[in-house]
Amino acid sequence: MNTLPNNLKQISLFLERLPGIGEKTANRLAFYLLRLPERDLKEFAETIGSLKSKTKLCRVCMNLTEDEICSIDKDTSRDHEIITVVEEVLDLLSFETGNIYKGVYYVLHGKIDPLNHIGPEDIYIQQLLDRVSELTSSRVNGLKKTRIKEIILAMNPDMEGEATAMYIRDRLKEVKKHNGVYFKITRLAYGLPIGASLEYADYMTLQKSIEGRNEY
Ligand SMILES: [Zn+2]
Repeated sequence: MNTLPNNLKQISLFLERLPGIGEKTANRLAFYLLRLPERDLKEFAETIGSLKSKTKLCRVCMNLTEDEICSIDKDTSRDHEIITVVEEVLDLLSFETGNIYKGVYYVLHGKIDPLNHIGPEDIYIQQLLDRVSELTSSRVNGLKKTRIKEIILAMNPDMEGEATAMYIRDRLKEVKKHNGVYFKITRLAYGLPIGASLEYADYMTLQKSIEGRNEY
């Protein structure tokens, strides 16, 4: 490692900070970068440089986007009356990869985790409740109009995920009662092992769990 030129060493050390990358892989990747055409490297560097400033949260669903509203919420062919609530953007990507779901999402960016001092107010639960409240309380011609058919709670099947789902379910029930509306609240039917992560679930398993979801 010490025999590497300084800039190559720096890049290797940076790559080593990425998840799942050890020293050997980091070195290999750094050498690979060195062999790329200058133009590709510059483009890559510019993209990385603007990653933070260009990426923001969709103001509808908190998904990551370069615009105000993400491509999923802009897609009129999707069913906007079915909302799947996920912990992380990576979970959303798992559903999208399998092309098994045609509704929209809401991303919490975390889960309730008392041991690590993460409470409901630390993730985007209130924003979700506000959104649901707004969608179900609008009046058309004096009649109440529900613009949500179903909310699918797709938190991971671990203790924190379960606690988060229960908390949201109870708060959503309050919204239903308050607005005098009905929509289904469901939880994925887990063929997934307890403690498994949605991020790593194959799409067949995800498809089964979304098809067999239960009212919660
Ligand atoms: Zn969105």
